[in-house]
Amino acid sequence: ITMTIQHNNDQETKHNFIAGEWRNSSNHIQNINPSDTNDVIASYAIATKDDVQDAVSAATSALPAWSSSTSGERFDILDAIGTEIIQRKEELGDLLAREEGKTLKEAVAEAHRAGSLFKFFAAEVYRSDTEGYRSLREGVSLQVQREPIGVVAAITPWNFPLAIPAWKIAPALAYGNTVVFKPSELVCGSAWALAEIISRAGLPDGVFNLLMGQGSETGAAIVEHPNVAGVTFTGSSDIGRKIGASVFARGGKIQLEMGGKNPLIVLDDADLDKAVEYAINGAFFSCGQRCTASSRLIVTENIHDSFVDAMLKRMELLRIGNARNPKTDIGPVVSEAQLKKNLEYIRVGLNDGAKHLTGGLQVEQETPGWYLSPALFTGAKSEMKICREEIFGPIAAVMSVSDYDEALSIANDTEFGLSAGIVTNDRSIIDHFIANINSGMVQINLPTAGMDFHAPITGRKNSSFGPPEKSSYCREFFTNTKVVHANYGKRLNSKKEES
Ligand code: NAD
Repeated sequence: ITMTIQHNNDQETKHNFIAGEWRNSSNHIQNINPSDTNDVIASYAIATKDDVQDAVSAATSALPAWSSSTSGERFDILDAIGTEIIQRKEELGDLLAREEGKTLKEAVAEAHRAGSLFKFFAAEVYRSDTEGYRSLREGVSLQVQREPIGVVAAITPWNFPLAIPAWKIAPALAYGNTVVFKPSELVCGSAWALAEIISRAGLPDGVFNLLMGQGSETGAAIVEHPNVAGVTFTGSSDIGRKIGASVFARGGKIQLEMGGKNPLIVLDDADLDKAVEYAINGAFFSCGQRCTASSRLIVTENIHDSFVDAMLKRMELLRIGNARNPKTDIGPVVSEAQLKKNLEYIRVGLNDGAKHLTGGLQVEQETPGWYLSPALFTGAKSEMKICREEIFGPIAAVMSVSDYDEALSIANDTEFGLSAGIVTNDRSIIDHFIANINSGMVQINLPTAGMDFHAPITGRKNSSFGPPEKSSYCREFFTNTKVVHANYGKRLNSKKEES
């Protein structure tokens, strides 16, 4: 695996941020570049149970002052964080590409998005947090108010190391909560850089805390802490559901964004070149390591062969290489464990009877890394594991169908419901698809991955639980509502007074 625990390190060590101070630990995570496994980025302190306790205590103590801070104070801090991220997006993007393996272009765009998210939620503090209604009762006022929920734990995955933390931390702070942030153990570099920016933005001590470490230890201690009022989690469905059940059992609030097995339907009338571009983008960009990746390509039989031929030609042009080389289209997968998982799925696909056309091979580059060529299967069936389980790698399966109705039924035949796409020019089919696909996000003549930064993220079935993330919709998670019926004394209107 790409991560080792060091007890004695002489490399640069980066510390956790607890109660306004940087704190070292006796154990560290060593962060290694998946494009060049000789390149050790740094060592990151693993938070202990005491660190978790201290961070949650600090966040609890900081709550009264932060939750009563003014909109202006919150705006200035969040806006300053967004500005610095955007100003430093090339440097932050390079660090992200170096530690996660997505291409430099994708990584710089992600850094920019993270900055934009802080700016979006900076502005959000000025929106109304109170709604008034006319009461049924004479002389009674009725208001619905919003209050912060308390200490929020943000638990994040490795595949968007800046954007996902940004879309959890920024709204948590904007709505007046305090934060304990636990990033994925594979991407401590980006998490630490983000925390360092946040640490200088003027937040009172304890409002924001960074705790790095393994999910099963540091993560579990955070989500099980009784003073953590809510957990916003993005990651795999198995872990999300487990965390969700334990937080629910102790009465905490939960927001879960989890896995996907996203279909892209291509119909007879589709523009073939565009359909191939959407499929290539959705299936293989970011090395297929996106929750919204198109891993099931559902194609009508009349165009099946020409679609597959065009895919193979396009795939030959994809340049696999070091993530930091601007010419690279597909970087390495994130870790050795992920590489092994992908190779295993190639074996499983073959075993289940799918036809393996290309890719799925380890590729040698100038530097040692976890390089894998994008893989394409045909003859895939809905019951095969490669069509049911989230692979989270550059592996796509083409499924041949007779018509749109069969395509839709296969698209919905999954435990997941995150994103789904269709390529067609038939307006009535598009309308039918939007109404009948059971997914939280729908893409028409676009790749299944790639959402506007200010749009909500939401899924169905095993993909999500709780209110959407991002946009103003996430307020449902980050605030509790308080309904106030008030009778301020007799207040009759003039007509009634006369009678
Ligand atoms: P993961 O579930 O392995 O880990 C996610 C986070 O949870 C990490 O920080 C991990 O340390 C922590 N964790 C693990 N066990 C824990 C425990 N018992 N208690 C508390 N925390 C624990 O996921 P990953 O491999 O980092 O990320 C890939 C997954 O994320 C994929 O399934 C992908 O689909 C999903 N994802 C979903 C979205 C979305 O918006 N729906 C976005 C990005 C990624």
